[in-house]
Amino acid sequence: LPEEFEQARPIMQKIEAAGFEAYFVGGSVRDTILGNTIHDVDIASSAYPNEIKQIFNRTVDTGIEHGTVMVLEHGEGYEITTFRTESGYQDFRRPDSVTFVRSLTEDLQRRDFTINALAMRENGEIIDLFSGLKDLKNGVIKAVGDPQQRFHEDALRMMRAARFASQLDFTIEAKTMAGIKANASLLTKIAVERIRVELEKLFLGQNPTSGIEVFVNTKLYQYCPMLAPFEIDLRQLATLEKWDLSLPSEVWALLAYTFYLHGKQINQFLKAWKTSNQVIIDTVQVVAAINEISEEVLTAKMLYQTGKERLISANKIALLFGGELTTDDILKRYDELPIKHKNELELNGKQLLQEANLRPGPIIGKILQRLEQDVVENKIENRHDLLIEAAKEMVKEG
Ligand code: ATP
Ligand code: MG
Repeated sequence: LPEEFEQARPIMQKIEAAGFEAYFVGGSVRDTILGNTIHDVDIASSAYPNEIKQIFNRTVDTGIEHGTVMVLEHGEGYEITTFRTESGYQDFRRPDSVTFVRSLTEDLQRRDFTINALAMRENGEIIDLFSGLKDLKNGVIKAVGDPQQRFHEDALRMMRAARFASQLDFTIEAKTMAGIKANASLLTKIAVERIRVELEKLFLGQNPTSGIEVFVNTKLYQYCPMLAPFEIDLRQLATLEKWDLSLPSEVWALLAYTFYLHGKQINQFLKAWKTSNQVIIDTVQVVAAINEISEEVLTAKMLYQTGKERLISANKIALLFGGELTTDDILKRYDELPIKHKNELELNGKQLLQEANLRPGPIIGKILQRLEQDVVENKIENRHDLLIEAAKEMVKEG
């Protein structure tokens, strides 16, 4: 068992000693069996939240309305969720009501795919009620129960299927695939933020091109913000070599670049997807850099304003489209920049005020900006005396 499970065992044993059941469930069981690293350990239990709180001294109500209590032990937090069933789903996304139950079977039944519906005892024994182990072994994503019904209950599951196809490099079982095709339009009922998370994971997965094929062939893309016009472009993407992106901003830059979006359009596109402002800033800059790299006109100014991390992102994407420069080439050019940051300029505002005898005002910033740019472009050496002299010259010329 992985270290994370070993550490949680005493907690599960304590729940069992109190007369309840406890199991590892969800992605961590799936990933352990696959031999992948796990991130969050989910524990499910027959004990109700108030019963969990009686067993342990230190707990936090992290999600008590859906049955989750966090238990604090040896400096770690463990989320224990009471077995539950869900019913209602009138809005195609959330159950109208959640009912706590004592039966593991009912809890596993509400889960999306067979590979996500496995449970593991603290001793490592696996409970496999829906042939999830077989599907894991064969690399198959298959809905628990009737796919039509399951996608009706919660349309996000369709995006999760496409995401897992990429993330795990699995195929989607035929009836499950048919269920997605028949219900793709229900995706419009789902909050954009939740779709976005799945789309990012799809693009950052092991086999993004096959995830995109699912996304396009099932028409899910048509029900996502601002993607409907881009079927051909998305299909084009799916013909590229597998890529290895690592950041959401790289995902968005890849899409924006593929769709030939510029400036304001990128902004609109990402606003529609409700990404963070930082992602918008990064994406705009990365796309600008990809454009210069691919047109072979990468300037010192672009190197400077893009910065090292984003240059690496940009070149990863440029390389996918046949870019000629290696990332090392680009980083070498970056390292040769006379300065990497404004504060490396051998002249600051205070010095400029005093030594050029100026009064405070917007002119100070303007001069510094010009000098910064001139230094970056090697038009002037980054030496204090030269910079002051040039500043005085600028003042004279107005
Ligand atoms: P990840 O590796 O991304 O965390 P995960 O499978 O653990 O993948 P989570 O969103 O953390 O995904 O959910 C944990 C578990 O809860 C899932 O494995 C699945 O059993 C269940 N689950 C999550 N979302 C849904 C859903 N929309 N419908 C049904 N079951 C779900
Ligand atoms: Mg998880």
